[in-house]
Amino acid sequence: MHPIRFLILAVLFYILYRVIFSGNKVTEKPEELGDNEDVLMEDPVCHTYVPQNSAIKTEKNGKIYYFCSQKCCDAFKEEQ
Ligand SMILES: [Zn+2]
Repeated sequence: MHPIRFLILAVLFYILYRVIFSGNKVTEKPEELGDNEDVLMEDPVCHTYVPQNSAIKTEKNGKIYYFCSQKCCDAFKEEQ
């Protein structure tokens, strides 16, 4: 392969990558925030309800648990 052709291909791939990457960034973020904004999850330690998007999260046996604070999260982990 000629070095010039390789350079052109590299530039094309770079442009394509940038277009796809920046496109995803713009469309994905607001949707994610909208979906999670008002979802309340029960804290299994103190049983208060916390908004999913601001909760402390931990995964255990494939299930995600949500906590009001790092303290509750640590207590849950020690309990297991
Ligand atoms: Zn809690």
